Amino acid sequence: MTVTEVGELESHRVLVGQEWVGSLSTETFSSIDPYTGQSWAEIPKCGPGDVERAVGAARLAFDDGPWSKMTGADRGRLMRRLAGLVDENAEELAVAEVRDNGKLLREMRGQMEALPQYYEYFAGAADKIGGDVIGSSKPNFFVYQLLEPVGVVGAITSWNSPLLIAAYKLAPGLAAGCTFVLKPSEHTSVSTILFARLVEEAGFPPGVLNVVTGDGPNVGEPLVSNPGVDKIAFTGSTVTGMRVASAAASHLAKVSLELGGKSPNIVFADADLDAAASGVIAGIFAACGQSCVAGSRLLVQRSVHDELLSRIVDRTAAITIGNPMDLETEMGPLAFQAHYDRVVSFVDVGLDEGAELIFGGKRPDHLPEGLFLEPTIFDRVENGMRIAQEEIFGPVLSVISFEDEDEAVRLANDSSHGLAAGVWTRDIQRGHRLAKAIQAGTVWLNAYRMVSHDVPFGGYKASGYGRENGLEGLREYQQTKTVWVETEGLVRDPFRLG
Ligand code: NAD
Repeated sequence: MTVTEVGELESHRVLVGQEWVGSLSTETFSSIDPYTGQSWAEIPKCGPGDVERAVGAARLAFDDGPWSKMTGADRGRLMRRLAGLVDENAEELAVAEVRDNGKLLREMRGQMEALPQYYEYFAGAADKIGGDVIGSSKPNFFVYQLLEPVGVVGAITSWNSPLLIAAYKLAPGLAAGCTFVLKPSEHTSVSTILFARLVEEAGFPPGVLNVVTGDGPNVGEPLVSNPGVDKIAFTGSTVTGMRVASAAASHLAKVSLELGGKSPNIVFADADLDAAASGVIAGIFAACGQSCVAGSRLLVQRSVHDELLSRIVDRTAAITIGNPMDLETEMGPLAFQAHYDRVVSFVDVGLDEGAELIFGGKRPDHLPEGLFLEPTIFDRVENGMRIAQEEIFGPVLSVISFEDEDEAVRLANDSSHGLAAGVWTRDIQRGHRLAKAIQAGTVWLNAYRMVSHDVPFGGYKASGYGRENGLEGLREYQQTKTVWVETEGLVRDPFRLG
């Protein structure tokens, strides 16, 4: 598979069972390269009938197919083969993602290089799934628990890191023995389709992974509402996540939600200000701020406000903006037009609210066309302003000053979200105090934007529930079955419980 071949493909097809088929309708939609503004791939526009077909294939594979009879060691072997294929095809997958969402090649290469580790790590867990013997207080009973796969999973991903976010779901789910219907974002379908071919090439049995492409109303909603789906694993915005949870409730599917954030990056006066400035830039301008963990609120202790801001502004002014394929580029375009318009509209929101625009806020002078926005910094932000409360998902930093530790904690927690936080201080005791006090699923001390296959990740509050990665991530795809074994052959009183 070469990049040119991908670009030349007129019509990508979707994987249902073991067959690559067109969608039931012959309609397609375009994937637009946000750097060129041109369509570069045509994707099948699936609908409810395709979802039904895909869920049927996943159901059959889970209930009856060869997959359902495989041992954990067998599943692990397939997953390791898949990891090898992902590794061999990493460059093609990275390029497809850059063309779909405009993120930097250097960033997507890093993600694709990390991807095999997810499949290898969980492959290593697949043959170690045991259970538990319960030391029950009931005499004459031997009680044990089995850890069984949850069943058919409907996995729905966002556009910002399509294959990484899919791996958060597929790697533990496959290890557990689940089957999948995977729906990528309508903005970034290509890498998922390419990945599905690797799953097939690795030798996974039919129906273990099915891919359906299309939008939320026609594909996402029918998938979530399908009673043949046992669990929904969703990554996306908080608003959509709420809809997903309520639709899944109609048939009591289990749900895990990885949603939005408005994460604070908190810098104390005693911090290494060079490291902190770099962490603040990483938090908000890497990936153009299109990251769920974006450190979009900088909380800075008043006594070092000017010193820190001058370092941040100096580094921000040196950011190279342009072609995402160029390895020197540090910020590319935003992902698609409607998203660009929304992000840009927040510049006016900030100005209207009375915040002080100290950097950026407009299109870069040297890029008269395309979905580019300068890295943008608002100072003198109040935490109640919309630019401090709403997820912008773009390169817009809101700077808020605080006096002392208590105020920092209060501001950090004054948010409906709770995905992540950074704390910069040389005081180790304060660092741990803050880590405990902050309401977020991840806290980085003197670091930012670290994720790994072996470290659990997920949100507090409106940032979602459930955990991905690490062994806790595996548990999301398992359910326990308790087995009671009578060991004495006694006839018991039928009118007594227990
Ligand atoms: P989105 O909510 O618009 O879409 C996410 C996915 O849901 C897409 O595949 C979309 O087609 C689908 N969808 C839309 N409506 C649906 C419905 N009614 N039922 C089922 N599916 C539906 O989000 P997005 O713009 O793709 O992604 C950006 C958001 O994702 C941001 O809020 C970001 O913070 C969040 N995100 C969170 C994490 C995390 O791990 N917490 C990671 C990445 C992105």
